[in-house]
Amino acid sequence: MQILAAPQELSEQCLDWLAGGRTVALVPTMGYYHAGHEDLMRHARGIAERLVVSLFVNPAQFGPGEDLDAYPRDAGRDAAVAEACGADVLFMPKADAMYAPYHGTWVDAPDMAKKLCGRSRPLHFRGVCTVVLKLFLLSRANVAVFGNKDWQQQAIIRRMARDLNVPIRIETRPIVREADGLALSSRNVYLTPEERAQAPEICRGLSYAREMVNCGEKDATLLRKAVLGRWAERLPLGRLDYIEIVHPETLEPVSRVDSPALMACAVRLGKARLIDNILLFP
Ligand code: AMP
Repeated sequence: MQILAAPQELSEQCLDWLAGGRTVALVPTMGYYHAGHEDLMRHARGIAERLVVSLFVNPAQFGPGEDLDAYPRDAGRDAAVAEACGADVLFMPKADAMYAPYHGTWVDAPDMAKKLCGRSRPLHFRGVCTVVLKLFLLSRANVAVFGNKDWQQQAIIRRMARDLNVPIRIETRPIVREADGLALSSRNVYLTPEERAQAPEICRGLSYAREMVNCGEKDATLLRKAVLGRWAERLPLGRLDYIEIVHPETLEPVSRVDSPALMACAVRLGKARLIDNILLFP
């Protein structure tokens, strides 16, 4: 596995592969790998002949007061994991290589970026779209793989690729969870033991809503209230950012689960802001 830091080198390597008739897959990440990242990499490895994994803690997607400096990092271990998962290139650029002095050109994210996480993180998806488009252009990958844990992110990236005619296929993978249901996240390391003990209640609340839907409940307000009631009892350390039921592609709120819908939430637990989601099928 090659470790590359220069955007130009990544571009040249991928052009070489493509000129030789190879297909290229891209897995964009911010590092501090867990089994969710590994799943994306192994999947990507199986659907293309060359695999590029990018590891970049993208300053542009963090807001003021967010955890850019504290974000967990372990480049040495990450390199070993990426190699074991079959990466041909690990691309680890420095921030000033991705954002040259006077950088001022941004992807204007679609309106769906203002919903859900976008409400408390107004410029987050502008930063995500900009860096992901750069990675698409540098790698010219045939396919990119994202996780459904960040459902809104993959929905926005699909829309961006469609709107801007980016010739790339987007694939997504299911959420990888701990045995107790907590969605794996690099940010789980922020949790104290007490917070960690309550954290699985996030996903249990969402599963509870799914059971209610399975029993015939379709009213979004009632489903939301049921989850909030459960959390009030079992997740007392949690501070709600949002919980919503939306259309899975447009992210528009729905009042009834008459067709497949997404229940998505963000909960602050101590220093961590944790997101999770579940599909509801009527
Ligand atoms: P991150 O490094 O957290 O920015 O995530 C990089 C990619 O891994 C994104 O596409 C995420 O959606 C995906 N990812 C993160 N956590 C999980 C998880 N628990 N299960 C599946 N994919 C994940």
